[in-house]
Amino acid sequence: MSTRTLTLDDELYAYLQGTSLREPPTFRRCRLDTAELPMSNMQIAPEQGQFMHFLVKLMGAKNAIEIGSFTGYSGLWLASALPSDGCLIACDINKEWTSRARHYWEDAGVMDRIELRIAPALDTLNQLLDREAENHFDFVFIDADKEMYDDYYERALQLLRPGGLIAIDNVLWNGKVADRGATDPDTSALRNLNEKLHNDERIDLSMVPVGDGVTLCRKRG
Ligand code: SAM
Ligand code: CA
Repeated sequence: MSTRTLTLDDELYAYLQGTSLREPPTFRRCRLDTAELPMSNMQIAPEQGQFMHFLVKLMGAKNAIEIGSFTGYSGLWLASALPSDGCLIACDINKEWTSRARHYWEDAGVMDRIELRIAPALDTLNQLLDREAENHFDFVFIDADKEMYDDYYERALQLLRPGGLIAIDNVLWNGKVADRGATDPDTSALRNLNEKLHNDERIDLSMVPVGDGVTLCRKRG
């Protein structure tokens, strides 16, 4: 027994996956194909995907945004948790990676629920705000360029309905956020945002040590 969160060694991590992961074949193919790419470590962990899928279903979310799609893995978990008339707005700037994403999304039968926007995510979010989409979305996943996270968070909070959820990825940044000697721009941005969220009265929050750390922010009504 333990009163603090466990550190998972390889054996326990394999056990966790072996006894809880339900990863559909297309999702697995996306994950394994992506593992061959040089930037493969950008992909979320499978148990994190399943966790977010669970949350989206639990909330009965219909309208969602993903900021940072890469080769489509997190999008598969999120879109498949939406109802058939739901919509995931997927934001990315990279055409090559997102053409791979489209392939898996089509294969998994969720393409009809995904609107891919190839543009800087801030432009897409500002456009949504201009079109009076305030309070419209149930769920936002933030997983793109770390220095822009705070800007994404502020816009996501406006776009979200009260009671809606923002999931922010990489908040533990492989431990670097706790290392005061690490002052590179990405680490500083994540550390500053973590401190801001801790004191932000507009949200309820929980920092969950799944994957590289995910902070869940529920918009207060
Ligand atoms: N969520 C993805 C997954 O689990 O497979 C991983 C996303 S990866 C960490 C970050 C993505 O953000 C990359 O695909 C990159 O092209 C995209 N990105 C970087 N800067 C961006 C920007 N300014 N606007 C939109 N997307 C951006
Ligand atoms: Ca990430």
